[in-house]
Amino acid sequence: GSGSTGTDDSERTIAGRVDSQDSTVSDGENADPRCTRQNSVSSVSQSLREWDIPYDDLDRGEVIGRGRFGIVYSGNWHGQVAIKELRMDYVNDEKTLEAFKAEVSTFRKTRHENLVLFMGACMKPPRLAIVTSLCKGMTLYKHIHVLKDKFNMSRTILIAQQISQGMGYLHARGIVHKDLKTKNIFLESGKVVITDFGLFNVTRLCHDSRRGNWLSIPPGWLCYLSPEVMRNLRVIQKQDDGLPFTTYSDVYCFGTVWYELLCGEWPHKGLPPEAIIWQVGRGMKPSLAHLQASRDVKDILMACWSYRPDERPEFSTMLNSLTRLPKKRLHRSPSHPIHLSRSAES
Ligand code: ADP
Ligand code: MG
Repeated sequence: GSGSTGTDDSERTIAGRVDSQDSTVSDGENADPRCTRQNSVSSVSQSLREWDIPYDDLDRGEVIGRGRFGIVYSGNWHGQVAIKELRMDYVNDEKTLEAFKAEVSTFRKTRHENLVLFMGACMKPPRLAIVTSLCKGMTLYKHIHVLKDKFNMSRTILIAQQISQGMGYLHARGIVHKDLKTKNIFLESGKVVITDFGLFNVTRLCHDSRRGNWLSIPPGWLCYLSPEVMRNLRVIQKQDDGLPFTTYSDVYCFGTVWYELLCGEWPHKGLPPEAIIWQVGRGMKPSLAHLQASRDVKDILMACWSYRPDERPEFSTMLNSLTRLPKKRLHRSPSHPIHLSRSAES
């Protein structure tokens, strides 16, 4: 079935909130009074100029990988960097370019230990790219799903706390991540580094899924989609018809990451995409059959996966809950294999 209500305005609303906070950030460390005065009247495009990196200044190295966004290269620009190049065959109109610039304008406001360092962007077509620091460690995805690493409970909590800290900061800045997943979380000698925040608009515009009557779903993506986002998936996703990502849907994603950390697998394991879309859209939560953990640990999961967005905790609350968890063994003896799944609406 495909019945659901449209929420076409939601992404625009998010962008508006980000813009309105924009001007409060720029002046603080600028000693030159001329700049201060200019800043107060400056448009986004003027402040963006500071972050504009001429493409030719980049010393592009080898390909690290390919994602929805385009190709990621390692490179050198005053040290080692990651260069995310946008696929230009998808960026052929003003609107896409503006979307890209709008997203870049939010990145310069991000300074946090647990967020990848945004260094600048190439904003002159046909070369559009984002330059960030190069993450040295491996992604949580690789640790969990490829290497099958098992983290003990105190390490698991530490990772979750750092993710909450980075995410709480983003949300306080009015930035919705939109694509929080273990593939976008690096672990660098114990330190969490979150990448790719706020980029989803561009990826969607770039890599439109309109290829006939197919909805192209990146592997492992569905289990991060909250019910309200799931219900807005369309086989033919129009360019203006954004998915309703919010800070609440980010919290849902965190729930999935928390599950992966605890179980070492994806939620909904083995279910076909159609079944996941249908179940989550209707308010059914993934099965917790594989998860043997304490009540408190499961409560966090259930709260993050609440059907109603406003019932999901904020990251500051999450941080408190995580801090209170006992740092003992992760896997308890299966004396109480609690099965909380299949309950609609909390
Ligand atoms: P995805 O996040 O879906 O894996 P991306 O386009 O973001 O797709 O990334 C493609 C590849 O580049 C991935 O292997 C990812 O780990 C790697 N990568 C992305 N950003 C960085 C970075 N800042 N530092 C190091 N590697 C990165
Ligand atoms: Mg990524």
